Amino acid sequence: MLIEQIWLDNPWRNFNYLIACEESSEALAIDPLDHKRCLQVAADHGWTIKQICNTHEHPDHIEGNQALIEATGASLLAPSGSAALIPGADQELRDSETITVGKSVSLKVIDSPGHTMHHLCLYGENGSPALFCGDTLFNAGVGNCHNGGDPEILFKTITEKISKLPNHTRLYPGHDYMQHNLGFTLDREPGNRAAQLLLDRLSAQSPHSPITTLGEEKEVNTFFRLESEEIIEGLKVLFEDLDQHSEPLELFLKLRLLRDNW
Ligand SMILES: [Zn+2]
Repeated sequence: MLIEQIWLDNPWRNFNYLIACEESSEALAIDPLDHKRCLQVAADHGWTIKQICNTHEHPDHIEGNQALIEATGASLLAPSGSAALIPGADQELRDSETITVGKSVSLKVIDSPGHTMHHLCLYGENGSPALFCGDTLFNAGVGNCHNGGDPEILFKTITEKISKLPNHTRLYPGHDYMQHNLGFTLDREPGNRAAQLLLDRLSAQSPHSPITTLGEEKEVNTFFRLESEEIIEGLKVLFEDLDQHSEPLELFLKLRLLRDNW
């Protein structure tokens, strides 16, 4: 499985992706907002874009579809239940379904509602495992839920599906928010050395953030760290309805609320 992560230097800091088959040079584009960049990167590698997959219906993920379809004739794959929200979708993908790219790449669909109610992630195990997670999970953060989502459902997606993938899964999110998110981690958990080290490393690197694994996220992403004493104690100071018996869901919802206003 060949992967190109394309960072758009736009206000939303989107990542577009191309996933290609080494044998056939056929490629799938994920959320190709900048269709010209996607076409250029594909041409540079000699890849042919045959499919487009949207992780969810937000405009900054689907607005490149039509131009890319016109240029390539690619078919458009979309999350289950999203046909009315994503113009021109040829096929809706269900949870656990497998899609193929060329001859050698297969990707499993993970239904992942929460950021929006019709959201999917793609999980590939060809070589080292990779998760294309749209706006469900970011580096050091999770998606917001105030534009068609539900934080309780996002909690279920994160805890019951995403966190159970292998720790060495490499993450390919829909946006680069790592620097800001690490600031939030350190606000909630000032003693998190791994987060501080990663933040220190970031400033010296390329304009966009490096790829992390799920295991690394469990060290630096507040939303995976609901058992951290420092995080729990900090939340108890701010929210009187929390105590030592508070459930992980309640802690997650408070963190999401704080992050919305941070
Ligand atoms: Zn979104």
